[in-house]
Amino acid sequence: MARINEHYRKLAAGYLFPEIGRRVTAFAQAHPDAGIIRLGIGDVTEPLVPAVVEAMRRAVDEMGTREGFRGYAPDQGYDFLLDAIIAGDYAPRGVQVAPGEIFVSDGSKQDSGNVQEIFGADCRVAVADPVYPVYVDTNVMAGRTGAVDERGYYGGILYLPATEANGFVPDPPAERADVAYLCFPNNPTGAVATHDQLARWVAWARAHDAVLIFDAAYDAYVQDPSLPRSIYEVEGARQCAIEMRSYSKRAGFTGVRCAYTVVPKDVTGVTAAGERVALHALWARRMSTKFNGVPYVIQRAAEAVHSPEGRKQTGEQVAFYMENARLLREGLGAAGFRVFGGVHAPYIWIRVPEGATSWGFFDDLLAKAHVVGTPGAGFGPAGEGFLRLSAFNSRANVEEALARIRRAFGR
Ligand SMILES: *Cc1c(COP(=O)(O)O)cnc(C)c1O
Repeated sequence: MARINEHYRKLAAGYLFPEIGRRVTAFAQAHPDAGIIRLGIGDVTEPLVPAVVEAMRRAVDEMGTREGFRGYAPDQGYDFLLDAIIAGDYAPRGVQVAPGEIFVSDGSKQDSGNVQEIFGADCRVAVADPVYPVYVDTNVMAGRTGAVDERGYYGGILYLPATEANGFVPDPPAERADVAYLCFPNNPTGAVATHDQLARWVAWARAHDAVLIFDAAYDAYVQDPSLPRSIYEVEGARQCAIEMRSYSKRAGFTGVRCAYTVVPKDVTGVTAAGERVALHALWARRMSTKFNGVPYVIQRAAEAVHSPEGRKQTGEQVAFYMENARLLREGLGAAGFRVFGGVHAPYIWIRVPEGATSWGFFDDLLAKAHVVGTPGAGFGPAGEGFLRLSAFNSRANVEEALARIRRAFGR
C-alpha cells in the first residue's frame, strides 16, 4: 500500500493562482467582450533582450558542432557564468563571494522551496506575513508544521506581520527561530529593507545561531544605489545567510529558467550531537544528487545579461516596468487609494476600500474595471485588506487599467 505523505493534506485548499484563474475564467465566459487586463500573476511580459537572444543563438550553433557540443554541465555551473555573476553582481557592491559558493539552478522558486531539506525536521521557521507562499508550503509538505487554523496560520511557524505600521518590513522576533525567510524587494508588498534593517536581522541571526534565507529575486528593481541589493552587503551576513537570485524578473527569464543560490562556506548548522557542519556541503550534496545542471545554452544566455549590452538592455526593460509602477502608484493615489510599494519593486500594494475584503475587492475590480489583481489575503492573513497589482504589462494596458479603475472607483 502506498501511504501518501499526509503533510500535503494540511495545505490550505488550493493554491492562490488557480482560484484566481477560476474566477477570471467564469467572468470571461459570462462577459466575452470585457477586455480583461491581467495585473495579477507576477509574470513578465516584455520579450528577451537582443543580447540574450544572440547569446542563445550562438550557443545553439555551438551545440550543433562536434567541437562545441556539451553534455552535462559542471555541478555548480560553468565558470564563465560564475565569474560573470561575481564581476557583475557582487564585486561592484564590495561583496566577497567565491565561485565555489555559487550554485546555478533552474529557478529561485525551486531553490527557495528546496533549501528547507538541509535543515532538521524540528527547526522552527519564521516568515513574514504576508509572504511568497513557496516558503510556507514547502515547510508544510516537509512536515515541519502543524495543521492550518481557521485564520490561515500553520501551527509551529512563527509569523511576523508586515504592516503599514512597520512599513511592511518586520523586525526580527524576540522569540527563537532557527531559519528565517526574508525577501527584499518584497513580493507581494513591494517594500524594500534598508541596510540598518537588514543589519538588525543579521545581528539577530548571529545572536540566535539562526540562518537567514534571503530571496533577492527583485534586486534589479532597487532604484536607490544606497539601498542594499544583497544581504552580504551587511557585515557578518557571510556567517548566517544564504542568498537567492534569479534572472526571471531582471531579464525576462520566467520561461527560460535560470537562477542561482549563494551558500557561503562560513554558514553552519549543528548536529544533534552539537557538531558544526557547513551548510555548503549539504547543499552541494543535495544539488549533485537531485539536479543535473542548467543547459549550456541557458547559462550562456544568463552570462549575456551581465555583458555591457545585456546590462544596458535589461536595465531599460526594468526601467520600463518601473515606469508602469510609477503610473500605477501615482494614478491610484490620485484616485484616492492608499498605495504602497512600486518604488523599488514591480508590485503595488493597495489598501482596499473601507469595508471591503481582499477577495471582495478582487471581485469588484474584475466586475467593474475588468482588471485582475491578486487578493492580499492569498499571501497570508495579514494581507487581508490589501490587493497586489503588478507592473508587468504593456504601457497601453497599464494606462487603460488605470483609466477604468478611476472611472469605477475614483473619488
Ligand atoms: C518570481 C519570484 C521568484 C523567482 O522564481 P524563479 O523560479 O526564479 O522564476 C523567487 N522569489 C519570489 C519572491 C518571486 O516572486
